[in-house]
Amino acid sequence: MPTILRSIAEAREVLGEWRKQHPESRLALVPTMGALHDGHLSLVRVARERADAVVVSVFVNPLQFGPDEDFDRYPRTFDADVAALAGEGVEYVFAPSADDMYPSGASDSAGLAGGGTHVAGGAAASVLDGAHRPGHFDGVLTVVAKLFNILRPDAAVFGQKDAQQLFVVRQMAADLNLGVEVVGAPIVREADGLALSSRNVYLSSTEREAALALSRALEAAGATASRGGSVGEVVAAASEVIAGQAGVVPDYVEAVDPATFAPPADGYRGDLLVLLAARVGATRLIDNAVVAVGGADAGAGHAGSPGGEVATNARGTIV
Ligand code: AMP
Repeated sequence: MPTILRSIAEAREVLGEWRKQHPESRLALVPTMGALHDGHLSLVRVARERADAVVVSVFVNPLQFGPDEDFDRYPRTFDADVAALAGEGVEYVFAPSADDMYPSGASDSAGLAGGGTHVAGGAAASVLDGAHRPGHFDGVLTVVAKLFNILRPDAAVFGQKDAQQLFVVRQMAADLNLGVEVVGAPIVREADGLALSSRNVYLSSTEREAALALSRALEAAGATASRGGSVGEVVAAASEVIAGQAGVVPDYVEAVDPATFAPPADGYRGDLLVLLAARVGATRLIDNAVVAVGGADAGAGHAGSPGGEVATNARGTIV
């Protein structure tokens, strides 16, 4: 069974001792909000390849939820999470309380303005999900910076499922010289294409069926790109699938240059990151895929394929 670290003080003490006893060993962190599924466990396996010991944090971070979001009803399944992590041979689980993490008392992303010290993301944190969920990425970056400082991992693994989060975390680690290697891991999907998410438990069976429009939209984007479609045509193909699905209301369907998260220039060729967010009933879901536009030879993954595929950019970074 993993050692459960229930406070910051306990984590520092236990991991400090581990470091003393294993001065040459590497520690990898997998940050999560719990309600673990196979997507999370795939990150644990990537972490295991990169390190000698793995710590998984389980913390539903109030700071990254908006005042009208699902913080209160977010699924909490701690005992099952620990059992699943034990099955993966995880050494440590860090599960602090919100009071311990936020002594200055910021309760949600609205509290960022009046709460304690926090990390503000760059331009990439204010578009797409950052625009639709004001303060969300600052809440994410703040908790991730705190986790890095408390646990002092050598590497931390994040899912490509939250592509914008992965980008802004990687940027923060570089911009603030945090000394943690940020590793991306591919999206894990159900056999029918639906990306695994802790929020999928909210979906009724009708809604779950409708939610397949997200991965179908990305498949349409990929197909349009492989037929030589432009960025505009690729985005239009994805939008059309979403618009044609009853019960699915898009927040956005957009494409960015995965290396910069900026909108692609006119005539853009190369790897294109197509991102979408939509409401299915009361549940907000996100998904994304990398496609290659303009006959680019870059190895773009096929969107929505069962099991998910990894796509890399020109530098070989998982995007
Ligand atoms: P969460 O618990 O939703 O905050 O997610 C914790 C981590 O798991 C994040 O880095 C997510 O990107 C990652 N994750 C969530 N769902 C998936 C998935 N279907 N495939 C891969 N990684 C995922």
